[in-house]
Amino acid sequence: MGESVNVVPLAGLSLTETEELLAQIKIDRRYGRRLLYWIYKKGIRIFSEINDIPKEVLSVLSACFSTGLSEPVSKVVSSDGTVRYLFTTEKGLLHESVYIPEGRRETVCISVQSGCRMGCRFCATGQNGWRGNLTAGELVNQVVRLPHKVTHVVLMGMGEPGDNIDEVIKALRVLTADWGLAIGKRRVTVSTVGVTPAVKRLLEETECNITLSLYSPFPAERLEAIPSEAVWTYMETLDLMKKYMADRDRRFTVAYVMIKGKNDTEKHLEELKRILSGTGVRVNLLPYHRTGADSYCSSDRETMMRFKHLLVTSGVGASVRKSRGEDIEAACGMLAAGRTKKS
Ligand code: SF4
Repeated sequence: MGESVNVVPLAGLSLTETEELLAQIKIDRRYGRRLLYWIYKKGIRIFSEINDIPKEVLSVLSACFSTGLSEPVSKVVSSDGTVRYLFTTEKGLLHESVYIPEGRRETVCISVQSGCRMGCRFCATGQNGWRGNLTAGELVNQVVRLPHKVTHVVLMGMGEPGDNIDEVIKALRVLTADWGLAIGKRRVTVSTVGVTPAVKRLLEETECNITLSLYSPFPAERLEAIPSEAVWTYMETLDLMKKYMADRDRRFTVAYVMIKGKNDTEKHLEELKRILSGTGVRVNLLPYHRTGADSYCSSDRETMMRFKHLLVTSGVGASVRKSRGEDIEAACGMLAAGRTKKS
């Protein structure tokens, strides 16, 4: 990534960090904000694209820094308009982001790691192992370098945010700050299996929305699909969400992937109602996408709509998420960078 070696990539840095770096090389720190405008808002790859900073300053910048931004390696377009982009890092870590247009809402789902070490059973990323963490700059790059006007960002691609929390928190600052991409805090959502210490940091250090990937309200059953339940129980994250629920603007959601005959029974519905009633935490019901490693299939639309209806009538906010990008393997749980299908 970047235009030369042994230089510091600026993408991922805050305004203060950038100003301090400029001061170290004897450049007026007031250029910091303008520099970040060109990187985060304009997505430049090389400093010579900047037209409002003196040329002699740009030449010093080019010698010391790179923008830290890079093009996607390839893209695949779905029949429903969803686009899956493949990126790589300087170290060769492949990762994917997915652009999902829906009316005036333009969402990008980004990756936080190349692969994942959580090993969730229903997820292609988890089945393919972990190759490395992405930096804050590499997270932000997945939004900045897309040729779209992004309105919402979800950290639901490859990897577990709680397993790379320092870089995730830095990236969230860049995504939401006025000197960064200036995306509204309520338009950025982090999805996690519930790594409790990381959830605490997200709640205390950011104002973004949080989604807990649940799978089953029964701990023993959840453990079978989400191994991290053995270390960080979902109940701990739910308790934290309840505690922070006073911040009404912030949205807390439970993502519930529905698998036919596994977690879509009356017993599951009643338990979901019991744990979520009166909490203000919403449920997002998702269709299951088979990843090839199992014989499960998704609950049918009728069952999902019935679940939604019965949750809503018992006072639990619920919605059914439409499947997007399934034909290009870009739907939830299907990301596994390194396929051969490219454009
Ligand atoms: S569901 Fe999320 S945490 Fe689990 S393996 Fe997949 S990417 Fe990792």
